[in-house]
Amino acid sequence: MSFSKTTLALGLAALVSTTPVSATNIVTSIKPIELVVKAIAGDDMNVSTIVPPGSSPHNYSMKPSQRRALEQADAIFRVGPDMETFLNRLLGGEEFAGKVVAFTEASSEETEAHHEHDHHHHNHGEGEDPHLWVDPRMALDMARTVHAKLSTLDGINTAELDANLERFEQRLNATEQRIKASLGQLDGTSLFAYHSALERFSEHYDLDLAGVLTLNPELSPGARHIADVQNKLRASNQPCLLTEPQFNRQWWRSITEGLNVTVSTWDPLATDIASTANGYIEFQQSIADAVLECLPK
Ligand SMILES: [Zn+2]
Repeated sequence: MSFSKTTLALGLAALVSTTPVSATNIVTSIKPIELVVKAIAGDDMNVSTIVPPGSSPHNYSMKPSQRRALEQADAIFRVGPDMETFLNRLLGGEEFAGKVVAFTEASSEETEAHHEHDHHHHNHGEGEDPHLWVDPRMALDMARTVHAKLSTLDGINTAELDANLERFEQRLNATEQRIKASLGQLDGTSLFAYHSALERFSEHYDLDLAGVLTLNPELSPGARHIADVQNKLRASNQPCLLTEPQFNRQWWRSITEGLNVTVSTWDPLATDIASTANGYIEFQQSIADAVLECLPK
């Protein structure tokens, strides 16, 4: 035979290296959704995210390569039309029908019309709060939706998906109970958030969210709103301001000047959390840890 073992091995290696074409490709809009997907999908699927570290879904513009990734995706997960407004036009196209899963619907036709001429911030103040993923119950609902969608794809091991969902639910329940117990120490602390992203977390854990600094995180608030927040800060017992790394902090420094306010930073976009099956659990814990920084030292 003229075939050497080496040639055969090389031929096989070449074959093997072309097989990832058939791997399942999932694209998510923001990192927290990527973490929920990773909890369900297992390691065989490729999961990538559009909004990169340091950027905000409020004002993001897509690169051409990301448009291609969306076109090649087997499934796309996003929060919804009130959050990643930059995706609305593209993903509304026919070629994406059946591939896109949005966890929320547009809050109203009025909001849609509003976004037609302003694509640079997501919905704050009108309609439903779109920051679903900070609430562990909503994250579980999202995981169930991810499970249902992935189960319909070709070549999927559904038994593995079932087991992953089961494990996620158990871990999330345990984490939620632990967080609930630890946040009980915050009785008497008034929380102030940079914008509405913290609201669903504080509602879920029954925290005292006394104020939100800006209704639209892209704009500095007006003088009247600043004065209102300062009065609330002055009147509060143990005020604590939870800031976010994605936004300019210059203006809130001047708001809190001369006031006795504790400051802690949390990241609603989970930037520093590793993208693993346990990532969402770590993210949920990281929010609680940031809030616990508000405790008097
Ligand atoms: Zn927001």
